[in-house]
Amino acid sequence: MARIPIHSLTNTELRKRARELLPRGHGFARRVHRRAMLEGRFEPERFGLGPEACAAWASNFSFDLPDIVAMKSDESEHGATSKMVLRLDDGLEAESVCIPMGRDRYTLCVSSQVGCKMGCAFCETGRMGLLRHLRTEEIIAQVLVAKHRLGWPIRNIVFMGMGEALDNADHVIQAIRVLNDEAGLAIGQERLTICTAGHVEGIRALDRQNFKRLNLSISLNAANDSLRSEIMPVNRRTNLAELQDALKGYRPRRNFALGVNYCLLPGINDTQEDARGVADLCGPLGRVLVNVIPYNPGTKPLTRAPEEAEVEQFIAWLRAEGLPVRERVTKGRSVMAACGQLGNPEARRKRAMRESSSSLVIPRGHADASGVESSSSLVIPPARPHP
Ligand code: SF4
Repeated sequence: MARIPIHSLTNTELRKRARELLPRGHGFARRVHRRAMLEGRFEPERFGLGPEACAAWASNFSFDLPDIVAMKSDESEHGATSKMVLRLDDGLEAESVCIPMGRDRYTLCVSSQVGCKMGCAFCETGRMGLLRHLRTEEIIAQVLVAKHRLGWPIRNIVFMGMGEALDNADHVIQAIRVLNDEAGLAIGQERLTICTAGHVEGIRALDRQNFKRLNLSISLNAANDSLRSEIMPVNRRTNLAELQDALKGYRPRRNFALGVNYCLLPGINDTQEDARGVADLCGPLGRVLVNVIPYNPGTKPLTRAPEEAEVEQFIAWLRAEGLPVRERVTKGRSVMAACGQLGNPEARRKRAMRESSSSLVIPRGHADASGVESSSSLVIPPARPHP
């Protein structure tokens, strides 16, 4: 039987599995779990257990954290934005980014998949296609490595790294339980944010979990179906009306404010009419906070980065429509750690190798079961390079 990763379970769940699996030594499960989560160590022998009990722990449970294979940092006036790359047990890599938020507070942006099948045209990860989902323990490992190996003082966690979090809803939801577990990492739900490109079934699945304080943000990026379908293929499957409907139903608490992320792409989605469209779409959604994110050109830029004056103008139009708006300062651009820049060429090469040797990968140009085409099938018209 495969060993169970301790960090895929809450404290209560580990105690239950230990009682089921271990003839002795299961009474230490609470402390074993706490030490793993709070100190990054799996050492049942430290609790005075005999060799037999320790061997039973080691043969039934694992606590393997991935190696860091690359680190890059980008210093700016806001502090250092750092990207770490972790090697997973099958040789693939997951990327996480530590973002300074001021006053010695950091947000960790974690990945939920290796690659992504959503194919957003402005996104480096989208160009990789989906290689695979991350398992719960691989999501939690990003936090544990950041905290215990690198000593990063993580305060908030956003599921905004590689992948569409709600396309991997089961593992992401379990990861939220583990992160939020009061007997473990005890990271409050108000410090956790799920970001989605508009995965309607995932939003409904999240709603059913009854997480009262969990934050949700949506990558909107276009407020009309034709443009959004062009830059975000997920919109071809569930259009803005369906997305709006799902979001209207997502009210986990009375004062909940939905995050609405808008990547500003000069010449593509930055007109006053676009701003009006955002306001019309957000109107029925209750409290929202719009984050305007200046586009970060990646390895194949769709357009240029917006000038500060263009960002300010767009924000002014949104505010004139009555929307609360915040500009997300771009951090980490030089190390490809900024928004939409995760995903490395090596991983793309591995995808290509897998495509030739495995049937698990979505074939090029083929709409998969979700109706979303893999990124490799996208054709960007040169005259009007929509992301
Ligand atoms: S923006 Fe998010 S959902 Fe879209 S392709 Fe990139 S990682 Fe996937």
